[in-house]
Amino acid sequence: MGIVLQNIPKEAGITRVEYEGPKIALYTKNPRFLYENNQIISNIVNSIKKRVVVRADKSIRKPESEAKDILSDNLPDEAKVSGIIADTALGEILIEANDPQFLVIDKGFDQLSLIEKTGWMLKIKKAPHIPSPTLQTIYHTIKAGSDERERIYKQTGEKIFRSRLVSDSEVSIHTLGGFQEVGRSSILVKSSESKILLDCGIHPGAKNPRDAYPRLDWADIDLGDLDAVVLSHAHMDHQGFLPALFKYGYDGPVYCSEPTFPLMILLQSDFVKLASMEGTSQLYDMKDVREVIKHCITIPYGVVTDVSPDVKLVLNNAGHILGSSTIHLHIGEGAHNLVYTGDFKYAMTSLFDSASWNYPRVETLIMESTYGAKEDIMPNKEEVEMSLVHSINQTLKEGGKVLIPTPAVGRSQEILLILDGLMKKGLLTESPIFTEGMISDATAIHVAYPDYLSRDLRKKIGEQGENPFISEYFTTIDHPSNRSEALQEGPAIIMATSGMLEGGPVVEYLAELAPSEKNKILFVSYQISGTLGRRILDGARQFNRPNEDGKIRIVDVHCNIERIEGFSGHSDYNQLMRYVSRLRPKLKQVIINHGEKRKVENMAYTISRLFRIPTYNPMVLEALKIY
Ligand code: ZN
Repeated sequence: MGIVLQNIPKEAGITRVEYEGPKIALYTKNPRFLYENNQIISNIVNSIKKRVVVRADKSIRKPESEAKDILSDNLPDEAKVSGIIADTALGEILIEANDPQFLVIDKGFDQLSLIEKTGWMLKIKKAPHIPSPTLQTIYHTIKAGSDERERIYKQTGEKIFRSRLVSDSEVSIHTLGGFQEVGRSSILVKSSESKILLDCGIHPGAKNPRDAYPRLDWADIDLGDLDAVVLSHAHMDHQGFLPALFKYGYDGPVYCSEPTFPLMILLQSDFVKLASMEGTSQLYDMKDVREVIKHCITIPYGVVTDVSPDVKLVLNNAGHILGSSTIHLHIGEGAHNLVYTGDFKYAMTSLFDSASWNYPRVETLIMESTYGAKEDIMPNKEEVEMSLVHSINQTLKEGGKVLIPTPAVGRSQEILLILDGLMKKGLLTESPIFTEGMISDATAIHVAYPDYLSRDLRKKIGEQGENPFISEYFTTIDHPSNRSEALQEGPAIIMATSGMLEGGPVVEYLAELAPSEKNKILFVSYQISGTLGRRILDGARQFNRPNEDGKIRIVDVHCNIERIEGFSGHSDYNQLMRYVSRLRPKLKQVIINHGEKRKVENMAYTISRLFRIPTYNPMVLEALKIY
């Protein structure tokens, strides 16, 4: 703070220098001066090597309603602004615009004068094309909890920027979940100064609590001692336990990418809703999910962020789902570099670029191995799409309906784009495509974060103003009473959640469509054993449905059942091997996780033999010293 104050001239009107989580916030009465002399801030950043942010001093802030009026009067109509949301904890106003490309200096937009007129900093964001209830919940909670968030930011900053107690570095990892298994991913990283939890998932198929949740009991740590939780992506098996941490006393920061935040809140909220509908005992409730919202600090890809006195964090694209990240920890002033891949796809998909591999340094790699067996080779994109075309056309031509059970986050958006593209090309028979369930909220979140999509899609959305998720073929069923539209006579494609026929609207459609030979159930995602999806795939030709009067009805399955493989957000065997070979300089060690025992063993054996790198495949409840 001494350096900061020494380097800033009086005209800057600095009133306070404050921690804002992992950043240093400079409060100013004269934002114009700092904007027009922006080399001052870059000099400070270069000399202190910390993230710095400029904030408007409270004394120049206009009351919220007045500031909003000023903005409404001055924002250009072409931008189609759909929301103006104030965040009082940061003194920042979020402007959601359908065409944010009109809110840039090149288009004559004078952001600085609006900052001066209102006394609030401005953040501009793309608005989703359809409402996202999850984003609304987040905005509301952030606003209501603004005092608490101010406290959390300050407390987090004080912890991060305290001076180091020891000079030498030691690093170990403790396997709490997701080793020699798929589910409840969680790793505790301990350095001389800090304790950081990477992922915190649940195991959806587990039979008892000891196998269902990360083994924090074994790690024997006080939740108050944790410096940070860092998340790789929004899937429940990587973050579903997080609200329980807050329920049991965690009060620290959660770091993740910008889209991971709303996507995980969507899935956690659905988890709470489902548990209350089934009347099963609740692991946590919405109160705990709101704590997650208040403690979440998002960071963009590629930005170096201090998360404890001796650990810096960088997130990079993992290519798996929207916002999925590889986690790079830089420990002890360069003593050791650890990269945890999370779930990753080392290949282009319709939605995302291939996972990042270009790390300046990495000594320890922790890598997933979902497809770690030699035979796990996926057909290429064209082949997969052609089998999709063939399968769907066959049913549509006979006037039947195709029901595709899909998880809300991940493959749904990819399949929507592929179906639309194939119909426009004339390869797929034209028919309406109906979606129901959390798919529409998740799709809205995809549109709200175009920066996290592939280069092609970014260009389409950003420069050409196109929205690939809007199509004449798509219809959203937003209420159960409208299902008749999707079910009326004639060919149609219906996509609904959940992906494994375990609850959700898909089961209602299944009950209507399964009895007729004309229709087809098309599985495009992995079916975990024990689920209705897996039972039907394995040949079950009847299932039970409770009627409205509570009586059980037996539904016969006469429709066609088919599965198409190859729509996966995971690297296949070849892609995993290629990824390891690509990393430079040479790795010191590899640790394999997130895979069935046989696959993990095969991956570890092959890497150590082929690349001559020491490779380990620990079980859950092991501790390894890595530096
Ligand atoms: Zn995943």
